[in-house]
Amino acid sequence: MGIDATGVVHRDDGFESKATGVVTMTDTLPRPSPASLLAEAESNIQVANLDSAKAQVEQAMALAESLGDRFMLARAATLLSRVLFVRDEADQAMAVATRAVELSRDLDDRASEAKARAMVARVLLSVGETDAALASCLAALEASDACNDAEATMAATRELTNVYGQLRQWDKALEFGERYCETARLLGNLATESSAIDTVSCIYGAMREEAVDRGDLAAAYRHAAEAEWRSRIAMQLARQAGSYLGEATCLANLAEALSGIGRHQEALVLLDHWHDDPLRTTPTVASHHAHTRGIVLTRLGRDLEAIEILSRCLAQAPTRPLEITACRALAEIHEKTGDLRAALDHYKRLLTLSSQQSSDTARRAASVAAVRLETAQAHAKAKRYEAQASHLRLTNEQLSRRSADFQRQALEDPLTGLPNRRRLDELLDLERQSFSIVMVDVDHFKRVNDNHSHLVGDAVLRELGRLLQANCREGDVALRIGGEEFVVLLSAASDEGAVATAERIRAAVLAHAWTALSPGLAVTASLGVAIFSEAATKIELLALADQRMYEAKVGGRNRVVGPD
Ligand code: GH3
Ligand code: MG
Ligand code: MG
Repeated sequence: MGIDATGVVHRDDGFESKATGVVTMTDTLPRPSPASLLAEAESNIQVANLDSAKAQVEQAMALAESLGDRFMLARAATLLSRVLFVRDEADQAMAVATRAVELSRDLDDRASEAKARAMVARVLLSVGETDAALASCLAALEASDACNDAEATMAATRELTNVYGQLRQWDKALEFGERYCETARLLGNLATESSAIDTVSCIYGAMREEAVDRGDLAAAYRHAAEAEWRSRIAMQLARQAGSYLGEATCLANLAEALSGIGRHQEALVLLDHWHDDPLRTTPTVASHHAHTRGIVLTRLGRDLEAIEILSRCLAQAPTRPLEITACRALAEIHEKTGDLRAALDHYKRLLTLSSQQSSDTARRAASVAAVRLETAQAHAKAKRYEAQASHLRLTNEQLSRRSADFQRQALEDPLTGLPNRRRLDELLDLERQSFSIVMVDVDHFKRVNDNHSHLVGDAVLRELGRLLQANCREGDVALRIGGEEFVVLLSAASDEGAVATAERIRAAVLAHAWTALSPGLAVTASLGVAIFSEAATKIELLALADQRMYEAKVGGRNRVVGPD
């Protein structure tokens, strides 16, 4: 299965049929026929042996060409398109599938036409050309209805399920999904039936996510339950068919569905008991498993483990969409756990990745445009590209803004809006001129919380932030560096100037109308002042201000202690 740029999940792994292991018919036949080469290629696609599959299809095409067998040529072209598509060469896949459509139409081979048009639809869907994909699917369905060929019907209904799923027209997606399953069952191939059922399960999974987004948890639960039993059956069928990759894919989808109905532990057990066979797995399947595990761990609140596995996922992601999914999940966990620095880093990376993805999509869309598609009118297409491009620009802008927000948040105290301790470190690093430090600590703040509530305590801190800002000059910076501890950095203040500022702050705090916040409330602060020339390093200067603040406490509070 795949996760496309819009986050909708659907199967596009090419493992949808006849997973019976590698067929080596060349061993038993003296000279390969185009048909035997195609069968061999098809089996190689199942096990992701794409280089061999491509070579075999190309050989079959050359043979068919020399034999003048144009029916075989059309069939082979459709299969070649599928190989190219799975190899992530969408533009070439598009050109070859279009050629297959033309060939089969010339021959009036409706079954072949249906399969070729379905293939065109699949490529169009992958590059975001949803409308054109739908038109192509419907044409495929019409061709298959005209010939009553089960494989053709299956190809058409399969793509219609995915296209309607992408369009979020769930009723239609499920209607064609059921037809797809029914046809697959009629064909009597267990692996094919398995992937049909799993496709419908993925539709329910996407419906679940949409229900979660709109906050309808009852519907989310129902959809996840539908996804669950389907994935379970799909997995069993894949196992019976001996399709390792099919089973692995269904298993990860099942784990996702179980976790969707809160059965996280079961989901983990399922993933844990899967015997990963390094010889038979593919990077996509391995990444799918790891990603699912990461998501389940997050839902269990096991954030550190989730971060570890998703980081590995990100490092080893075989395709950009998988890289994007892992990166987004990581950014969100870091955001949740309050590690804003890491969240920022991942959002920045996400921005880069999605820009790259956008240019890939744009490049592909451009080459798709070069292919003459009779189902799409040129000017309508141009308009869609424009809309798509502006949508992508928008997404990038949103991400940039998000990233700027995080940068700000990482250096800002959310309660008072003042710069925080991290910012103090930065400022001390940057500071080149002489400056003074005033350390401010609220007196008996614990009593404020105890006697007036924590909410009032918070309001006091916010008010204090405003008082500090109001009482320092342009160029001075007030920061909140801890619970009820603040620092004011005074630029180029003399001894007297710094002490005078501290004194002004102390008097302002004492005089402030605190009773407006809570009856009987009074607040004072103790302050320590240290001047640039008094210490060798900035750390020592900070410690000196802190020590004097402490002296002010010991001396009776509500006072300023500065240089003697
Ligand atoms: P002292 O005069 O010796 O400084 O006494 P104190 O009670 O102010 O000192 P202490 O450091 O023991 O207590 C500080 C209190 O500040 C403890 C903590 O509950 C409270 N606090 C820390 N951060 C916040 C916050 O964000 N909001 C509120 N309301 N209280 C906070
Ligand atoms: Mg304190
Ligand atoms: Mg205090």
